[in-house]
Amino acid sequence: MAITITAIILVLYAVWAWRRKGGPSDARAKKPAKKACKWETTGHSKGRFVEFRCATCGVSAMPHTGKAPVDCKSTLSRPN
Ligand SMILES: [Zn+2]
Repeated sequence: MAITITAIILVLYAVWAWRRKGGPSDARAKKPAKKACKWETTGHSKGRFVEFRCATCGVSAMPHTGKAPVDCKSTLSRPN
């Protein structure tokens, strides 16, 4: 009986550890899509700030540099 309980605990632990790791399929799906971004100017501007919009994600940004953002802003949380 004790051996059965130990076996169940070991299996549960293995499943837990595998899920915590994310699993092999999850790791493949979480590829960063940096290069897929295509920033375009929307034509809107606020003073020196020019608004850009990512054609891939549909996220708009107004970088202080005046140039198109390097990283995609879709992963960032939206400001309220
Ligand atoms: Zn994007």
